[in-house]
Amino acid sequence: MEEFGFHTKKHLGQNFLTNTDVLKRIVAAGDVTAADDVIEIGPGIGALTEFLAASAHQVLALEIDASLLPVLAETMAPYPNVAVENQDVLKADLPALIAKHFDGQHNIKVVANLPYYITTPILMHLLGTDINIAGITVMMQKEVAGRLTAEPRSKDYGSLSIAVQNVAEVEVAFTVNRNSFVPAPNVDSAIVVLHMREVPVAEIADQAGFDKLVKGAFAARRKTIWNNLVHLYGKSPDAKEAIQKALADAGVEQQARAEQLSIKKFAELQQNLQKNGL
Ligand code: SAM
Repeated sequence: MEEFGFHTKKHLGQNFLTNTDVLKRIVAAGDVTAADDVIEIGPGIGALTEFLAASAHQVLALEIDASLLPVLAETMAPYPNVAVENQDVLKADLPALIAKHFDGQHNIKVVANLPYYITTPILMHLLGTDINIAGITVMMQKEVAGRLTAEPRSKDYGSLSIAVQNVAEVEVAFTVNRNSFVPAPNVDSAIVVLHMREVPVAEIADQAGFDKLVKGAFAARRKTIWNNLVHLYGKSPDAKEAIQKALADAGVEQQARAEQLSIKKFAELQQNLQKNGL
């Protein structure tokens, strides 16, 4: 970094991993082999990228910060199987980039030390694309890892737990001390592995309607599901009657809290609401 006069940018979540042992363990947790093509989000100066390149068939690294490109050109010079694209992952057309860089013969895995300020949007972006991702192995803030793995009836269970657990089995591989980074972040971190499911826990026919229901149900966590749904769908007698019927048909008490409902129960409730015109 000194050689290139590069200074890390806090607003881009630039906390670079310097612990070689952690880098090796991330690649092992992602089970990256020559049968895999890897997408890395935010290669930084290429510390993790080098280890990925040594294990994977190919690596595509998306980096938003153009001032890192000359650094990456040098650190990645020995690795012809690495392509770097100067892109914002949240705006990137992943299917097009995959078609451009990968041969279609290998599993696609995402492995990254994420920029923490956009962990949730990145996960939602990855889960929302049409590409067939075999697994996602990512470093994130420990608290967010807790939300991803949270079970119903716990304080961390919410819309993120539901969105992710519906399509993936979530495993916390290991935790990482803040001193493994330069500069050290203000939080501790965890490596989370999402093993994508062949079939989701609940088939969702209307994803937008499902997301609206789940977000709305958790909008005021301490209020009952009844209060949250009336707030969400409106106080008209028709809306109230529809909510009442949808809850009753799903066997959900009006006094229940959103955190008590499993993914399957949310899916059933959404179908009932739709049947009743909401
Ligand atoms: N992979 C490196 C490592 O492990 O040391 C750097 C990880 S650092 C936590 C996050 C990286 O993501 C930074 O290089 C940052 O510039 C990049 N980044 C931030 N926002 C991004 C975005 N929207 N799209 C792509 N990369 C982004």
